[in-house]
Amino acid sequence: MALSGLDIYKLLPKTNCKECGFPTCLAFAMQLAKKAVSVEKCPSVSPQTKAALDAASQPPIKTVSLGSGDSKFDIGNETVMFRHEEKFRNPCGIGFIIEDSSSDAEIKSKIARINSLSFERVGQKLDVNLVAIKQTKDPVRFVQAVKLAAANTKLAVALISNDLQALKEALVLVKDRKPLIYGADSSNFAEMGKLAKEFNAALAIKAKDLEDAVNLTQELANLGVNDLIIDTGEKNISDKIWDLTQARRLALKKSTRSLGYPAMVVINKDDPYEEAMEAATFILKYASLVLIKGLETWQVLSLLTLRQNIYTDPQKPLQIEPKVYPIGAVGKNSPVLVTTNFSLTYYTVVGEVEASKVPSYIISVDTEGMSVLTAWAAEKFTPEKISDTLNKLEVGGLVGHKNLVIPGYVAVMSGDLEEQSGWKVVVGPKEAAGLPSFLKNL
Ligand code: SF4
Repeated sequence: MALSGLDIYKLLPKTNCKECGFPTCLAFAMQLAKKAVSVEKCPSVSPQTKAALDAASQPPIKTVSLGSGDSKFDIGNETVMFRHEEKFRNPCGIGFIIEDSSSDAEIKSKIARINSLSFERVGQKLDVNLVAIKQTKDPVRFVQAVKLAAANTKLAVALISNDLQALKEALVLVKDRKPLIYGADSSNFAEMGKLAKEFNAALAIKAKDLEDAVNLTQELANLGVNDLIIDTGEKNISDKIWDLTQARRLALKKSTRSLGYPAMVVINKDDPYEEAMEAATFILKYASLVLIKGLETWQVLSLLTLRQNIYTDPQKPLQIEPKVYPIGAVGKNSPVLVTTNFSLTYYTVVGEVEASKVPSYIISVDTEGMSVLTAWAAEKFTPEKISDTLNKLEVGGLVGHKNLVIPGYVAVMSGDLEEQSGWKVVVGPKEAAGLPSFLKNL
């Protein structure tokens, strides 16, 4: 946990010798708390104090990276219990389990399906993260399955096995892409830790409960294995939420270093609805990595959408660039619609304009990411602002008319807008869903 200036002051020599360049130890402590200076500037600080300050400056939950190149992703480094306190930082990884009992053709087909699970929503690309190969048969088949996976996807790879020799052979195949080994328990953690170190892999621990997790992470940290991910095993949903919440709380609020690692959940449900529901629950609280088996688009798209919503910064609305967006084969007679630059508003309008099949221009006004009514109430979507945007973007030169469609909710600004812009205002529907019939009849 970060120390306050006064906490740090208590650890300093309090001689006010000024050698650090500050007039007092307290002034230096305040700057240290803000991370504006380094503790090295004080020559009198003891090694114990330095170690304490270093420990306090570490993030309460470690960042662990998996994968390589464009498929690399970070998990962990979370600093709050609730999103509104600041934001959640590293989106929960979503991975898929493929058992090595599948035939080569099935494995290839599943991996091709996983590779295709990429979507675009409100201007952002939503991708899945990882393929996990699970050993169910002999070691030779496991290694073959890992080889197939490595050859057919660029995504990060997890190896689910207890067989040390099979893991070693499989790790040789994926050592360059920061794989995840799943997992270490009290019977094999030393050997698993050795493998993780040798192949620069992250290591998941399979603990029975939080106490077991504390013991295992401490043992592994003593062995110098620090890229750890915690799993407290298969449990009913409420017990699992309890584990995840307590682990996060103890790491953040009580500085329990041995629980300061990302957490993962392996969903084991045959019913696809239950599987999606459990995965969604754990994405919300507090898994940093979720493994599922299902590959249905509806499952994956809902989980990715949920993840996107949870991991956006609540203090920064998703915005698009304020500019002219031509939709379809626009021409001189195309309608001109104006809206805000809040992503959700803009993409809703785009969807309905596309559905209308009437090529149109959409002018997005910079409202700092606010939706129509909020921006109007906050005076960010005003006749002056819209008029300035039309002029700045030279919209008049794009079309052979001067008719501007505004959202129905701000019909009240019609008169002022006509006066200020010189455009004839046409009041559109209140809801974007009304746009297709409105545009067809315009
Ligand atoms: S150098 Fe150290 S002891 Fe001297 S004033 Fe600065 S913080 Fe205090």
